[in-house]
Amino acid sequence: MRLSDNALREIAENRVLSLWGALLSRHPDQLNRPHGADAELIPLAGTDRILATTIDTIAEEIALGFFESPETIGWMGATVSLSDLAAVGATPLGLVASVTLPRGSPPEFQAGIARGLEAACRAAGTFVLGGDTNSGDVAVITSAGIGTVHRDRVMTRVGCKPGDLVFATGPLGLGGAVSARALFELPPALFAESEFRPSARFREATVIARFASACIDTSDALIAALDQLGRLNGVGFDVDASLDVVVAPRALAVAKALNVDPLVLLAQHHGEFELVFTVPTTRIAAFDSATATAGFAPLRIGVVTAETPVLRFLADRPRTLDGARIRNLLDAVGGDVRAYLAALIELMRSA
Ligand SMILES: [Mg+2]
Repeated sequence: MRLSDNALREIAENRVLSLWGALLSRHPDQLNRPHGADAELIPLAGTDRILATTIDTIAEEIALGFFESPETIGWMGATVSLSDLAAVGATPLGLVASVTLPRGSPPEFQAGIARGLEAACRAAGTFVLGGDTNSGDVAVITSAGIGTVHRDRVMTRVGCKPGDLVFATGPLGLGGAVSARALFELPPALFAESEFRPSARFREATVIARFASACIDTSDALIAALDQLGRLNGVGFDVDASLDVVVAPRALAVAKALNVDPLVLLAQHHGEFELVFTVPTTRIAAFDSATATAGFAPLRIGVVTAETPVLRFLADRPRTLDGARIRNLLDAVGGDVRAYLAALIELMRSA
């Protein structure tokens, strides 16, 4: 399938990645096109398995004080990569991590990050294989995930068609709630940091991979995930489930306390690492039966439409969102996250 390059180019982040792509040679055997999957996919010669690898960094979240405890920093530092492996249906082999610690930071800070990395890896049934530590002005943690997936079970972002149903592995908006909690200095009782421990959805992905036509994680929150799938596949999305169902109760409470539209928490660019995926209607009965057997209850949130890249929320107060405007807003306000959130709140008020 030919990817819709013009639609992708409307998004600043895609333009940056495409610029790098134009400067670097692509491996001739690489299975995924640029932007086409959450992890890079290379067949392992002589086997029926594919190597999946991905890398991600936590820096802005640390600098803005989203996470108070080093355990959370370590947990999130692992989850950013593990979640991308889950989104392609891979089983993790492990991850390697590069941790930059501020000069003079106490040993407990380093130990806390290590404990968080360890806890997230153990929750995913995997290990830190090795890595590197450095010192610098601010804390930065980068992890690269390594996994494998059978070639018949690999998921990418490409393949959904109008009429496919859209699901999430769980309610959304907690990533947005974490950023709002820090930026608006909400009382801890409203949403404690310890309540935010997103787990890469490996268990669910083994079921999803048998049925999904496309899959992406919500590392940049729901609206960016759907907008990107729309641009890659030449489709749009109608989210018809009520926001009371789509948005996690803690995130709804945060939106209410701030008197902002809950869609703000699905639109800002810090996600919660659920999987969003599409299933063709012909496969729904078998999918329902498989999820029931696995004891996993996916959230049906909407349907794929033919109108690209139109993103509509139909329940509650129906509206059509401008995905490009939302996703480019951080750049448009000069990169200041507080100004971005204020602009987003205003934009959703008028949507
Ligand atoms: Mg991702």
